Amino acid sequence: MSFLACRPCGVPWVLKAGWLYKYVPRIKEVTFVVKVIADECVGCETCVPVCPVEAISMVDDVALIDQDTCTECEACVPSCPVEAIKSE
Ligand code: SF4
Ligand code: SF4
Repeated sequence: MSFLACRPCGVPWVLKAGWLYKYVPRIKEVTFVVKVIADECVGCETCVPVCPVEAISMVDDVALIDQDTCTECEACVPSCPVEAIKSE
């Protein structure tokens, strides 16, 4: 049965896989966001149709990214002619 457990720590691989599945998406969520710098946006709307999940909307002529919908694919970043969309 030892082949079912990690040799260095003895933790079963199935438990380790569960831990990764549970926590890796959260780490990505808190360390990486795509956002529009409002002061730099010129309201051209070029980025809006580029988003595959329709996370970008225009509010008072400024692009706004819905962080709950955004998948951080970064497709919108190069679409902005004034580089107002930042990935950080
Ligand atoms: S990073 Fe991707 S999902 Fe997020 S707003 Fe830009 S295009 Fe949409
Ligand atoms: S492409 Fe850039 S300037 Fe145009 S609306 Fe989007 S964020 Fe604003």
